[in-house]
Amino acid sequence: LAGRSAGRPVAPTRVDPLAALVDAGLEVPVLGGGQVRHANLDLAASAPALADVAARVEALGPWYSSVHRGTGYPSELATELVEEARRTVAARLGARDDDVVVFTRNTTDALNLLASAVPGDVVVLDIEHHANLLPWRQRRLVVGAPTIAETLEALDRELGSRAAALVSVTGASNVTGEVLPIDRIAELAHAHGARLAVDAAQLVPHRAIDLAASGADYLACSGHKAYAPYGAGVLVGRRDWLDVAPAYLAGGGAVSHVAAGAVAWHPSPDRHEAGTPNVLGIAALALALDALAEIEASAPGVRDAHEAALTARLADGIAEVAGVRAVRGFADAAEHVGIVTVELERGSVGLVAAALAAEHGISVRAGRFCAHPFFDRIATRANGLRASIGVGSSSGDVDRFVDALARIVAEGP
Ligand code: PLP
Repeated sequence: LAGRSAGRPVAPTRVDPLAALVDAGLEVPVLGGGQVRHANLDLAASAPALADVAARVEALGPWYSSVHRGTGYPSELATELVEEARRTVAARLGARDDDVVVFTRNTTDALNLLASAVPGDVVVLDIEHHANLLPWRQRRLVVGAPTIAETLEALDRELGSRAAALVSVTGASNVTGEVLPIDRIAELAHAHGARLAVDAAQLVPHRAIDLAASGADYLACSGHKAYAPYGAGVLVGRRDWLDVAPAYLAGGGAVSHVAAGAVAWHPSPDRHEAGTPNVLGIAALALALDALAEIEASAPGVRDAHEAALTARLADGIAEVAGVRAVRGFADAAEHVGIVTVELERGSVGLVAAALAAEHGISVRAGRFCAHPFFDRIATRANGLRASIGVGSSSGDVDRFVDALARIVAEGP
């Protein structure tokens, strides 16, 4: 897959982390006529693809064929793309040798798949995105405390009160960007005989992941948040529950034999991947993880430093804007990814977000970010406004946002 496309070798190209997105330099219309350069501060929702990755995925386009079934060259290529992507994803996410990699549509799908396989109660925190709240049928909710330390104590008490099969937590909050201590939560869960799943939708785009070293048992993430052209998602983790769970999708490819009254299901991953997979999305996800690793290998620490500097610039800039307050989940959060959410003392964040887009060409997100219980607990207003940065974001984008926000809030949208 790496260095190959359409059956011909393609020289791997180096990705410039600071100017590498397909939307770099795009212009958007603004009120009153004219165009301005788009400032995309909504990467946490869906990140534009890395241009290099998009080009390599596009080159695969003509080679459509069925996966795991046909015998012609395109079919073998498609099968190889999917299986090589599976190996790449396992390696890039630090899977253990006996972990399984199941391709899904996205993080939501991956967590729903895991929910269909868990043999018992699941304990979650109230900071979760709905994708990591709603799928769990027998969920027990731990209400977060003002600090991570107190939240882990509450989790410890909950796990001590009744047996649970799984704890499922986010790796990084999509509301505050705060990063959770996955290794400590894994230890805690294991001490109570439970496993740990990590919703890594917001972690994978910003951090190198080593599932085995973290101690977590499962990880779910989405390609479209990790700079893949629209794509697939993945569930990686322990094989045993997934091998005996009912097929998540029943159909062709999930079975070895079907006769009247008898079906022999494959083990995972095939068991849960019936039907024709999203070959391009799967290839894209693997290529994007490769590209992120290449960025790190070619310039160690540069991307982290870039994102940390921009996040600090964003937070500091916002702190200077009168009438705006950043929302925080945990007073003791030691690490943040590039997400800052604010609430307004007065007025509507929806109107401010609309003015940012229509008058300044700046994309952000307004609302409760599919994390209603968390937002309602930590905010004082009904809705917030979220700015998020990543690869390809610039200090110019951040400054434009802060200036425009200050002007709109001062004038009233
Ligand atoms: N988990 C978190 C923390 C997220 O931020 C999101 C998306 O915003 C999801 C899960 C769901 O991701 P997807 O829409 O790709 O399934």
